[in-house]
Amino acid sequence: ELAELAKLKAEPSITKDGHRVEVVANIGNPNDAKVAVANGAEGIGLFRTEFLYMGRTDLPSEEEQFEAYKQVAEMFAKENPIVIRSLDIGGDKELPYLDLPKEMNPFLGYRAIRLCLDRTDIFKTQLRAILRASVYGNIKLMYPMIASLQELREANKILAEVKQELDQQNIPYNKEMEVGMMIEIPAAAVIADQLAKEVDFFSIGTNDLIQYTMAADRMNERVSYLYQPFNPAVLRLINMVIQAAHKEGKWAGMCGEMAGTIPAIPILLGMGLDEFSMSASSVLKARSLIRKLNAAEMKLVAEKVLQMETAEEIVQYVEQEVLEKI
Ligand code: PEP
Ligand code: MG
Repeated sequence: ELAELAKLKAEPSITKDGHRVEVVANIGNPNDAKVAVANGAEGIGLFRTEFLYMGRTDLPSEEEQFEAYKQVAEMFAKENPIVIRSLDIGGDKELPYLDLPKEMNPFLGYRAIRLCLDRTDIFKTQLRAILRASVYGNIKLMYPMIASLQELREANKILAEVKQELDQQNIPYNKEMEVGMMIEIPAAAVIADQLAKEVDFFSIGTNDLIQYTMAADRMNERVSYLYQPFNPAVLRLINMVIQAAHKEGKWAGMCGEMAGTIPAIPILLGMGLDEFSMSASSVLKARSLIRKLNAAEMKLVAEKVLQMETAEEIVQYVEQEVLEKI
């Protein structure tokens, strides 16, 4: 079976009826990118850059970051997307050297884009490094944890300032670099129609989106019955986000764990998800499944699933009506 999967490394992620999607990988450092290439990923859908900031005693310099981003870009062909997420620190990921005060609810606190919009020194250094690396590959920038249109606009304003500085210094960057955001806060999913007008793409972060939608800690076993990707409320939000992106002619991906989950793939494909980003070890299995499915049929499956009332019913339906029949 492994040998069969290995044959798919250079094959496209295309359904039986010719609908093409992208299967890409989540990484935390340049070394992971090598593993992603070895596993046939068509690019990177999520570079969790916080790992460049962790396990050390000070902030990484612009130069160190530039080298890491460039290195990843150069491992892939020019057209393959490399989505670099700006710093997503806070929550469970701490940076002791920033000396931030302890918070009662770190997952609802000063983290990710909230911190970056406040510590513009840290944010600008990273944006400079990403922009400079953008001439070495198909790099795209993605903001984490956006909750409002104001935050998105503020982040884009800082990005415009950084671009202007680079222009003044005659430092090259890709002026067409796509800029997108994660949808991982329910508020963002609800206003996805408005946000879609001001970004190039969305990537749905289900790890956090499920936690915040269901008000259930993603690490807490006692409430894990609520932490359910197939919960109808979660599925409806995901569908809303994909449709909102498409209405504006933008693409929608997913970089939460759900994107690499076998019973989720038929549903997401049916909803029209354009990009599936997952751990490298899931890439070939996901591609293999996609190549056995029919997109037009999955659209009907998704429509049916969106009317169902429980996660159990949904999973059972996909297993019996889709997975057992291929
Ligand atoms: C997510 O929230 O789904 C996500 C991909 O981000 P992280 O797991 O890094 O919070
Ligand atoms: Mg997240």
